Amino acid sequence: MPLGVLILGGTTEASMLARRIAGDWRLAPILSLAGRTTSPRPQPIPTRNGGFGGTEGLVRFLQARAIDAVVDATHPYADQMSSHAVAACHEIGVPLASLVRPEWPRLAQDRWQVVADSQAAARALGAKPRRVFLSLGRQELHVFAMAPQHHYLARLIELPEPEGLPTDLRLLQARGPFDRADEERLLRDERIDVVVSKNAGGAATYAKIEAARALGLPVVMIARPHKPAGVAMTDVNACVDWLHGLAPRGV
Ligand code: NAP
Repeated sequence: MPLGVLILGGTTEASMLARRIAGDWRLAPILSLAGRTTSPRPQPIPTRNGGFGGTEGLVRFLQARAIDAVVDATHPYADQMSSHAVAACHEIGVPLASLVRPEWPRLAQDRWQVVADSQAAARALGAKPRRVFLSLGRQELHVFAMAPQHHYLARLIELPEPEGLPTDLRLLQARGPFDRADEERLLRDERIDVVVSKNAGGAATYAKIEAARALGLPVVMIARPHKPAGVAMTDVNACVDWLHGLAPRGV
């Protein structure tokens, strides 16, 4: 029997891993997405969508689908999913690897103010009205309603429900990646004073950080949450090797 593998995804790394192992006769993978996007990109391996129902639900899923190994390739800020994965795998003795995306380093020219969460980011914008680029997901935008003195711009793949959003918020609908020239143009054309971002790491969303640096703009950087991990690795190839090491020989 091939090794039953659950990939907890929603990230570039999870999609890279899916492409790497698609068609690998030693592995029988399933990719799990949180279901945040109604039209996710097509994937080359079987995919499921939506929450499992906490740690207990994940345990039931792992048992029902005969999963032998889990790869947590979720977003660095998806800490709840990661803690459920650690607890569920520990409970039933399933090996867990975590694909950890390194943080963006802060360079000498970067004007970052690091804050603990999105509430702290809203406070850090200060009392004086500013033009703010919110480089955040749909779930975090409503927090900025607590600082209504600012003008906000956010760019999203799918637009959020309007309830509870900041009153002065303009939404752009677009799917990346965006290059540095695109990002500099956006920040300039929109006369942005400050960028709010998470330290997502990786190349896909780094251009806005480079653009802010080039334009000398401050960035309110929301720090990463503590994310419980299994066997930590930063490289997709290392993860494939780890899975092959678990796959029964002579399959
Ligand atoms: P989370 O807070 O860790 O997860 C909340 C719940 O969503 C989990 O308990 C789980 O529900 C479900 N879930 C999350 N990832 C899942 C997956 N891959 N497969 C199945 N269910 C999953 O994570 P989040 O709410 O998705 O996001 C937290 C932060 O990460 C946000 O800042 C968001 O912008 C960022 N982010 C997330 C994703 C993503 O694909 N999830 C992508 C980009 C950025 P149950 O408890 O019911 O199992």
